[in-house]
Amino acid sequence: VYKDFSKSSRVVQKYGGTSVGTPERILSVAERVARQHKDGWRNLAIVVSAMSGETNRLVALMKAVNPNVSPQYYDMAIAAGEQVSVALLAGALEKHGVRADMFLAYQLGIMTDEFHAKARIQEIKTEKIYQSWASGRIPVIAGFQGVTDKMEITTLGRGGSDTSAVAMAVALDAAFCEINTDVDGVYSADPRIVPGAKLIETMEYEVALEMASLGSKVLHSRCVEIGAKFKMPITVRNSFKDDDSQRTRIMAESNKMIESAVVSGVTLDRNVARLTLSNVSTKVDAFSTIFSAVAKHGVNVDIIVHDRHKSEPTKVGFTIAKDELALAEKALGAIRQRADFAKLDYQVETNLAKVSIVGVGMRSHPGVASKAFEVLANAGIEIQMISTSEIKVSCVIDETHGDDAMRALHKGFLES
Ligand code: ADP
Ligand code: ASP
Ligand code: MG
Repeated sequence: VYKDFSKSSRVVQKYGGTSVGTPERILSVAERVARQHKDGWRNLAIVVSAMSGETNRLVALMKAVNPNVSPQYYDMAIAAGEQVSVALLAGALEKHGVRADMFLAYQLGIMTDEFHAKARIQEIKTEKIYQSWASGRIPVIAGFQGVTDKMEITTLGRGGSDTSAVAMAVALDAAFCEINTDVDGVYSADPRIVPGAKLIETMEYEVALEMASLGSKVLHSRCVEIGAKFKMPITVRNSFKDDDSQRTRIMAESNKMIESAVVSGVTLDRNVARLTLSNVSTKVDAFSTIFSAVAKHGVNVDIIVHDRHKSEPTKVGFTIAKDELALAEKALGAIRQRADFAKLDYQVETNLAKVSIVGVGMRSHPGVASKAFEVLANAGIEIQMISTSEIKVSCVIDETHGDDAMRALHKGFLES
């Protein structure tokens, strides 16, 4: 990567949870950063996540105290893991002979909206980063956190420090943003589940975005969205390896990709819940009533399946993220208060997952969906819901078949 850029380039590097998961790991990250700094890379900005497992620990603590806690309190607790990482990395850099400047989101000015636990970055103030560079130091910044203009701490959603890093790169007009993680890059499927998964060397934002939002957790989907919007090149590489010839570069479609793969990757999303509504009023505005109440409660609806038989009471099923189930049930409770929805009934299922295949080449290749169904059928996996777009096919299946479905689709499309 570095060969294409001069050493005066501004570069943002993000180190994820496992990359800073132990004192040894932090020291080895510090060693790498210090080496680059001494080698003349003077405009590096480092974004860190909480040590792996730490954010989960904080979430569990808060849940133990109050499972229905207000989001402001929740964010104040779970943003804390990143503070420790910032200080530990600064300490490790000191040991390697370079000075760091430490920044929490509120100290720097990573300004977000007020949607706690899924806040969006609105502006990043960069003056202090430039001052830090001017004085020969390395800015080390807490990922995942933000602050509202009322000075309330927010967080960007789980996995959000990727987004902090890419947004920082955009704010600094950096040459690129490097996401350092515990695998070599983005693979055609989760390499921990699919042994035959292949490293994808270059990929379009479009495919990366679809894979991220359909469940591949290596990148936070907002970070790819921002990267695409501002054409910020994103490199994903392994922080455990010095050699970075193995890596993934995410960029706008380029002539390096003469022909796009029909299927680039297979993803699995376990965060799926289904609500099946029965005795839905047959009035023409029934769906608009239901789905606007659901949306007003902040719930994102994914796949909707509606099957209507003449004038019989209607049934409708839809999927949402499991962690929005409580909100969705609140919305349905509110709807039931209305006279015309008093009979509304619903069932909840949480033992589901969504397996998807993604690829821009699908646009010009018919028969991809039918082949996916055939592959799943041959593996004995029942499809419960289907959703397709130009560049993906998604099937909702039983969660227990998730890994097998991913392996079967990977074999069917990517291991020939
Ligand atoms: P970090 O802590 O560095 O942010 P994450 O745990 O959030 O790391 O993301 C890296 C993990 O994502 C990998 O260890 C891998 O198991 C998982 N993963 C899921 N899908 C993919 C994929 N398609 N390519 C690479 N990794 C993937
Ligand atoms: N520490 C946060 C999380 O675990 C953010 C991140 O790792 O990207 O969700
Ligand atoms: Mg992550």
